[in-house]
Formats: sequence, C-alpha cells, structure tokens
Amino acid sequence: MSTAKRIVRPDVQALSAYPVSDATGLVKLDVMESPYRLPDWLAKEVGEVVANLALNRYPVPTALKLRALIRDVMKVPAGCEVLLGNGSDECIQYITASVAKPGAVVMAPGPSFVMFQMQAQFYNLKFVGVPLNPDFSLDADLFLAAMAEHQPALVWIAYPNNPTGNAFAVADIERIIQAAPGLVVIDEAYQPFAGGSFMDKLNDYDNLVVMRTVSKIGMAGVRLGYVAGKPEWISEFDKTRSPFNINVMTEAVAIKLLENKKVLDEQAAIILAEREKLAAELAKLPALTLYPSAANFLLARVKGEKGAGTKVFDRMKAAGVLVKNFSGGHPMLDNCLRLTVGSPEENRAMLAALKVALS
Ligand code: PMP
Repeated sequence: MSTAKRIVRPDVQALSAYPVSDATGLVKLDVMESPYRLPDWLAKEVGEVVANLALNRYPVPTALKLRALIRDVMKVPAGCEVLLGNGSDECIQYITASVAKPGAVVMAPGPSFVMFQMQAQFYNLKFVGVPLNPDFSLDADLFLAAMAEHQPALVWIAYPNNPTGNAFAVADIERIIQAAPGLVVIDEAYQPFAGGSFMDKLNDYDNLVVMRTVSKIGMAGVRLGYVAGKPEWISEFDKTRSPFNINVMTEAVAIKLLENKKVLDEQAAIILAEREKLAAELAKLPALTLYPSAANFLLARVKGEKGAGTKVFDRMKAAGVLVKNFSGGHPMLDNCLRLTVGSPEENRAMLAALKVALS
C-alpha cells in the first residue's frame, strides 16, 4: 500500500474531484455563467487597473475598499459586516469551519448545492439532507421536524435553489429561521435573477446570515463571494479565513466592475428576459417536464425510462451543446438536465439540439 493510500482519509479517497466538463468547442451552458464578456471600453479600463497593480505586494488582508463598496452596492443593512471569499465556495468552507464542533450537524433541503454536504464531510460533521417535495417545493413541516430531531448547528438554504431553480416560499424559510437552534445561511447565489432577498431581514434575526456571489453576473472568473451578517457572526468566520484569500487582481477588478455595475445589471436583465422566452419554448415540448425557475437556468426532466436523460445529454453534446446531466446523482434528479440560460444565439442552438435529441 502506498504511503498516500495509508495516510489519506478513506472517505476522501472514495471521493471524486468536483466534476467540471471539458467544454472546448461546445456551446457552454453547464455551469450558470453569464454568456456576456465586458464591453471593450470596460475591458480596457480593467486592463489598465491590472497593469498598475503592485503584484510584488501581498493584498491588504482586510480588503477595506472592496468590502465598503459591496456594502454600498449590494445594500447590506446598516450595522452588518461583510466577509469575502475566493468564490462563495470558499465562504461555505469558512462558515462550516467556524461551527465544526465535534458532533455538530449540518442540514439542508435536498437536492441542493453539493458543496454544503461536501464541506460538512471535510470537517467531519454529520450532514442531514431533508427531501424536498416531488415538485421540489420545500416541505417545511418535515424540515422543522428534522431540525427538532437533529438540532443542526448550521442550516443551508439556497434561495433560489440549485439545481432545481425554484425559490422556496418566504414564509416557510422564515419559519425555519425562527425555529432553528443554530445558524441559518441563505445562499443567494442566484439573487440577481430572483427578485427577492433576505438581505433586508438580517437585522430581524440573530441567527441569520446571507451569502452571495458575483459569479452569475459576469464575474465567475474573478472568484468573489461574500457573506453579509451581524458582526458577531462575521468576525468569527473571519478568523477561519486565509489572510490573503482575496488576491490583488480579484480585488482591483471587482472594484472596477462593481463601480460599473450598471453594465452587469443590463446583461443580467437580458438573461432574465431570455429565461422567460426559453421557458416558454421548453414548456411546449411534451417529452419534458419543466420546473419553474427564479434563476439563470432551467431544470427539465426527460420523460421516459431510466437513462432517457443521459441519452438526450449525450446527443446534445455530440451536436455541440454542453448542459448539465443530473442522472446518477441525487435520486430525485433522475433524467434531469440543467440548462443554463445563455445568449439568444446560444439558447437557439441549445433548443435546436434538444429538440433533435428528444426526437
Ligand atoms: N451557491 C450556489 C447555490 C451555487 O449554485 C454556486 C455555484 N454553482 C455557489 C454557491 C458557488 O459559487 P461561486 O463559488 O462561484 O461563488
């Protein structure tokens, strides 16, 4: 047995690395990126900003200017603070690390974002996934009963949820926040497309924080996520943060882009309108069950026996369109495909490939 095999945790050895498909040459509609690059004038300004950076220096660990800008632009309530992460993925790690007492329980509705469970596992915590209803709405009574039984230190609720796309009922989420014995994190990665938010409720509860990302509004490559909440939470999470986690390029580019957020907002508005058009087209296809979406993607289930979804996924890929296939993962997602909303041309290509694949 190799030393690595002997030393590395068996549960880590049993994992596969987070799967990211090679999209070379394909219409890329698998991971909810914005299809839009920056306009030339803004790209040029970003270039100048980067050229003027002191790359020989470590970042200022507090990222004061960027945090102040986020508080302002994202309307973080007065009295609340902001923690930055290298993507919200990293914020999930910091929050989990902060609550990881031996025996602590992490809970989330399922299916939901896989990193909630993965980070719980990395910190040796017990993860309890509470099944959603068959239509992917939240079963609040079941969730409350599970909380009463397992007393979770940490509850994750993605609002809207990934990969189902729907936003759970606000009243149900509030019941969960009120009944939770520990921290509730509302993950608002898809907030720019959702129309609702818990940001303005941060001062109503002492066990609530809101997590967001700029990845879905055209900055996925920048890698920046944030958590907003009362200082009593944020200052504790901050102790688990690698001191220089936000590199100087991320910080400078994010400042430049958030100062010009209007550009990103206009792009998001186009994506939102495209989602509605795409949903109307998908709803016409009798071979699919389409689920309602408040995000920049749509979840559709291919009707038919086991394997039908994968067959359609493979055919679409062969036709040059990459979406996300959920067969073989969470049992409630069998035959489900997640379709990121792209540009009008990409969506046309995706629909054409999908129709052929279903025929
Ligand atoms: N939360 C949810 C619900 C997501 O879907 C994602 C990305 N797929 C993330 C967090 C992480 O996003 P990022 O690390 O790009 O900020």
